Amino acid sequence: MNCMLVKYASEISLKGLNKKYFEDLLVTNIRKAIGNGFKIQKESGRIYIDTYSEELADKVKKVFGVIGVAEAEITEKDMDKIGEVAIKQMKQLKGVKTFKVESRRGDKKFPLQSLEISREIGGTILKNVEDITVDVRNPEVVVNIEIRDKAYIYTKLDKGVAGMPYGSAGKGVLLLSGGIDSPVAGYMMAKRGLELVGVYYHSHPYTSERAKEKVIELARKLSVYTGSFKLYVAPFTEIQMQIIEKCKENELTIIMRRFMMQVAEQVAKKENALALITGESLGQVASQTLESMHVTNSDLEMPVYRPVVGMDKIDITDIARQIDTFETSILPFEDCCTIFVPKHPKTKPRVDDIRKSEEALDKEQLIANCMANMEIIKVTNLQ
Ligand code: ATP
Ligand code: MG
Repeated sequence: MNCMLVKYASEISLKGLNKKYFEDLLVTNIRKAIGNGFKIQKESGRIYIDTYSEELADKVKKVFGVIGVAEAEITEKDMDKIGEVAIKQMKQLKGVKTFKVESRRGDKKFPLQSLEISREIGGTILKNVEDITVDVRNPEVVVNIEIRDKAYIYTKLDKGVAGMPYGSAGKGVLLLSGGIDSPVAGYMMAKRGLELVGVYYHSHPYTSERAKEKVIELARKLSVYTGSFKLYVAPFTEIQMQIIEKCKENELTIIMRRFMMQVAEQVAKKENALALITGESLGQVASQTLESMHVTNSDLEMPVYRPVVGMDKIDITDIARQIDTFETSILPFEDCCTIFVPKHPKTKPRVDDIRKSEEALDKEQLIANCMANMEIIKVTNLQ
């Protein structure tokens, strides 16, 4: 009989008194990812699921906190039986020349200690499998033996996404555009355990329904990792129109970006979130210089996290491909930032000048209107 053995990040095991909280959350998140109908057990630093299939393993590998997934064969806690399974597994791996055995004795009543188990099973494999030697430093294959209620044996560990259990680090609001960078930024924070709520600024009729659909699709792709994803669609036309009408052309972008942040902060307050997250990367465009980013967040109470700030487009793109958002992000629908772009945006705005320019606007009323007309969309990975 086979089962799935799940290894999780050592960071979780090191959480002291909070360890149980982190482990329980991880189990809950695994259950959400695979659905009910499976028996999931947590024991001595491992999680065991009563069934193995590749499809199931693919889902578990995407749960933050999981560092590895293996198909383990279960047998009696008997050294002969364990030896038979180990030989069978080694014979199935064609062309392997070197191996070692690693054992974990969860059941302290088992008569042999870990090292003794490894030594004995290693000897059994050497005797029964041809053309093979032990290499403790750099083996091609590690035969793992774990002793608990039964013996669990596996040779192949598939890598999981790692990170911390989703939801273990509080909540943040992700400014999710249709571009490449912001989904990656959201993924990176979610991977550290931050629960995400998304906000997308939509300028109907200047941005199309298809642009909105694209962002919803990105939210759905993120929900493969987060389980579900709540997206606020913020009506942004009135704000943009008033800025265009009343402010200087070269300040349009920076003022618009300040509004985005301030609306996001209101959403964060409503959602009991404590931070804002953007996909800004230093120097990528005029609004992402140090001066611009400073002015963008200088009237906020909450911190703005920019996890890709120090990354090149190439590196960000690599992650976008890995998490399968890239193909959606490059669909050519216009964004509210790409319409009404000033020809020569300020690259070194000063906060006092910008605050002064904003005096011409009905700031509070504009933000209140935007908040009052939010559309809320919830997507899940089960769609
Ligand atoms: P991205 O690839 O994430 O769109 P970008 O390089 O195109 O980023 P900008 O358009 O300047 O850069 O936007 C910077 C950040 O501001 C984005 O990463 C995102 O977090 C936020 N943002 C921009 N436009 C929107 C929008 N329409 N709705 C929500 N957030 C937005
Ligand atoms: Mg963009």
